[in-house]
Amino acid sequence: MRKDVIYVDNNATTRIAPEVLAEMMPFLTDYYGNASSMHTFGGQVKQHIDQARERLAALLGALPEEIVFTSCGTESDNAAILSAIETDVRRRKVVTSRVEHPAVLGLCKTLQQRGYRVEYLPVNAKGQLCFDALENMVDDSTAVVSVMWANNETGNLYPVAKLAEIAHQHGALFHTDAVQAVGKVPMDLSRTRIDFLSLSGHKLHAPKGIGALYVRRGTPFSQFMVGGHQEFGLRAGTENVAGIVGLGRAAALAMLHLEEENTRVAALRDHLEQGLLQRCASARVNGNPEARLPNTTNISFEYIEGESILLMLDQHNIAASSGSACTSGSLEPSHVLRAMGVPYTAAHGSVRFSLSRYNTLEEMEVIIGKLPPIVERLRSISPFGRGEA
Ligand SMILES: *Cc1c(COP(=O)(O)O)cnc(C)c1O
Repeated sequence: MRKDVIYVDNNATTRIAPEVLAEMMPFLTDYYGNASSMHTFGGQVKQHIDQARERLAALLGALPEEIVFTSCGTESDNAAILSAIETDVRRRKVVTSRVEHPAVLGLCKTLQQRGYRVEYLPVNAKGQLCFDALENMVDDSTAVVSVMWANNETGNLYPVAKLAEIAHQHGALFHTDAVQAVGKVPMDLSRTRIDFLSLSGHKLHAPKGIGALYVRRGTPFSQFMVGGHQEFGLRAGTENVAGIVGLGRAAALAMLHLEEENTRVAALRDHLEQGLLQRCASARVNGNPEARLPNTTNISFEYIEGESILLMLDQHNIAASSGSACTSGSLEPSHVLRAMGVPYTAAHGSVRFSLSRYNTLEEMEVIIGKLPPIVERLRSISPFGRGEA
């Protein structure tokens, strides 16, 4: 493990857990058989896929046959929503939120171009969904409601079980992008009416290139990837065996570390947040501290650019992320912060810190020591310098 980098960008991607890599290795070397083959050499691989499916199902409170392995979170999001709009062709509306990941928003934009109607739930200043608007949006022309379980930028949690109930009251299906939530919040899907749930390996210490889609037993599903009979005929393509085995182990580890994630990691996050707010003037937390992921904080340092902060943190080998994304060459603040109505001077200066179980208190102290002078320096050269803007 690289000891020199302080990695607090775990909502972008995570390191592969050493236990996960160890369990994957045989399937990248000696056990290369095809699970669909007749021979024992291939067949034994199948058992390991089955075990991974059971482990992932246990983490979600699902049945093994409700788990379909995919290539990533984006594929799972696409597969779920595209399937849902085919279930009842008379229903041509999708209801989602303004703060979804591009994997959902990008698809919704494409669907609009194809003539579907898409309605976007607004959020308030804390990023909470406006429930009043929801009641008017979901109706009997709605095919699917898709709302994320946890937001990747702010860490905000959304009441997906309740949203699933509302969707079903109108005969619509419910999908949740839970890529950020799986492994960080306890789940028991058997107690909800969620139809589809997307997750991604590389956000929970498994490798990139493996994801999964939960499809509730009894929920109609039409294939996104068509071809062979893999994954109960729900997702064609020769299995990414090493990735699947890795995701299975990562799920088992996540179950083991869920408690730590919600105590020690949350305490580290709170320590970092408090330390920075105390030492930096004109700093504010974006999101809803009452209901958010244990590992995430999104802080705006007003009147300066988040990108400048990141570059200077980078010189100290601190890897964080900016809330604002550079879209088509222009520096547009993030769609999530804009939906929340965060003022431009604050949205531009937002930095996201997302922790994992591999972070330490010493690392938090380093960030708390390095960041305030960076903010001071940038403010001194900013056109909005002394906060007069
Ligand atoms: C990372 C992420 C995705 C995309 O997952 P990939 O596996 O990278 O395709 C989707 N939704 C959310 C909320 C994410 O954080």
